[in-house]
Order: sequence, then structure tokens, then C-alpha cells
Amino acid sequence: MGSAEPLIFSLQHFCLHDGPGIRSLVFFKGCPLRCPWCQNVESWKARAEIAFKSHLCIGCGICVEKCPEHAIPEAGKRDAEKCRFCFACAESCPSDALTRFGIHRTPEEIVEELRPEFPLLKTSGGGVTFTGGEPALFPEFAARLAGLLRREGIDVALETCGLFDMKKTAPLLHELGIVLFDIKIFDAEQHRKLCGADNTAISQNLQTLAEARSRHEGPLVWPRLPLVPGMTDGQDNLKAWAVFLSGLGIDSLTIVPYHPMGANKRRWLGLPPAPGFRVPSDAEIMQVEQLFSDEGIRAFTPGEESF
Ligand code: SF4
Ligand code: SF4
Repeated sequence: MGSAEPLIFSLQHFCLHDGPGIRSLVFFKGCPLRCPWCQNVESWKARAEIAFKSHLCIGCGICVEKCPEHAIPEAGKRDAEKCRFCFACAESCPSDALTRFGIHRTPEEIVEELRPEFPLLKTSGGGVTFTGGEPALFPEFAARLAGLLRREGIDVALETCGLFDMKKTAPLLHELGIVLFDIKIFDAEQHRKLCGADNTAISQNLQTLAEARSRHEGPLVWPRLPLVPGMTDGQDNLKAWAVFLSGLGIDSLTIVPYHPMGANKRRWLGLPPAPGFRVPSDAEIMQVEQLFSDEGIRAFTPGEESF
């Protein structure tokens, strides 16, 4: 998956939960995993997509008129066979009911858009975080963008699902201050069943990064574990991760409690609804923090970390 030039589906500003300090986020489109609890489903496909937000539609019919392929018989209905993804409908929709996810941006354009935030990012001890999707699917582009930001004195973080080609990603890693490394299911077969790919390469990448860090040769490695009741919160799973991280010399991680924030996006993109996961209670989160603490690992919730 992936090509040399990614699509970017969002730039977010003044964020506090994705690395040290105040950060701007660059969202890359395309992910090799399909975790059922994902809150950024618009990141899954590497190609551009059209979302329909029915609550914003004013029924003007402009999309029906503008479509050169006659792929929209009525508002909210798009014939996937006929659609050629020209985006004329989304560009002419007056109420943003039709929204395009994913546009090409050059690294230089992204830097210029973020430039007004640079002073705040610097004084807060923050920077820019690449997230998605999986930015490391586009290692050359990501390394170019990170290099430009670093030359401006901006710290760069990578949030990754961990499934990437370590060799191709080396120039990117060289530019980073921190890698926020997502961990989910320890058991390889269970990971494949739930997330759509084996995690052997993911664990190997985590180990390689942690070993490099221990030799003072790479970015800080900071795992993040989504806490999803019934999925990632089994004692065996958590214990296995705690022992593994401890063995790698990693002494901190972030526990990210599940929250059903991405539910609307699934509907807008015509995806089936997510399975009905539960939000973990404060008591459950504290138990998980204790479990990691017992292995010598400090567990934080997002925004509370001491990086
Ligand atoms: S993207 Fe283009 S072809 Fe597809 S429905 Fe919209 S206007 Fe028609
Ligand atoms: S152009 Fe937009 S607002 Fe108008 S009918 Fe189509 S989707 Fe609805």
C-alpha cells in the first residue's frame, strides 16, 4: 500500500494530546490496519473519498446537476460504478454536505500553512505530529516534510501503527524527536484476526526502535495503548505488553481510553457501524495503570504525560 506522494486529509492546530507541548497535527491518508475501534476511518484508504453528511444537506440538487457522469440520481445517493472521483459534486455543494477527504499537499505548502503557529509550538515545547493513517507508508515525503520543519527549529513526532518498512523509514526516523508507537493486541494471531495484519513486524519494529534509543541513536519511543473493553483490556494481553516493554527498557506509556468519537464518520462514508464498544471506567483505567506500574512502567492518560 502507499505511493510516493500521500494524500493529506486534515491539518489540526493547537492540539494537546499527541506528543509534548502544543502541537499541530498532519493527517496522512492510508493505513495497513483495520482496527474495529478506529476513530479515524477516513484515514483507512490511501485514495481520496467523498463523505455525505445528511444533516448538512439543504436538498438544492446542485450535486445532481454538476455530476458529469450522472452518478448522483438524488442527494445522498452516489452510484459507485459510475463515479469517476472528479469531486465536482463536493466542490459545488454549497453546504459542505459533500466533503472530500484527501488532497495532495507539498511539504512546502504544509510548512507555510503551519508557519504562523511556529512561535507558539516552540515556546510550549511542542511541535508537529505526523499521524493518520500511517505516515510511515510514505517515508520519503514524510522525511522531506520533517526535514523542512526541523530546519525551522520545529520538533517532529510520528504517531505510527508500527507496521512499516524500517529500512525505508530510517531517514524519517533520523528527523524525529519522538515516536508515539501504537500497541494493541500482543498475540500475533489475535492481532491478525482483529486488526487485519500479523503484528510480528510491528513488535520487531518496536524492539528495533527501543534498542536504538538505548544506544542514544534514535528518537524517544513512547507506546500508546488504546484501552478497548473486550478487545485490548484482557489481563493476559496487558501483562504480556507490560513484560515486553519492560524487557525493552521502556518505562512509560499512554493508555488511551476508548471513546466512540468516530461513529459519525463511518456513516458519512457509508461504512457499516462500529461494534458497540464500551467506554472504560475510571476504576478500570486505574487498574491498568497499576498493572503497568507493577512492571516498572509509568502509565499516563492522553495530555497528562511527562515526556
Ligand atoms: S465525484 Fe464526480 S463523478 Fe463522482 S459523484 Fe461526484 S461529481 Fe459525480
Ligand atoms: S449539493 Fe450538497 S446540499 Fe445540495 S443536494 Fe447535493 S449534497 Fe445536498
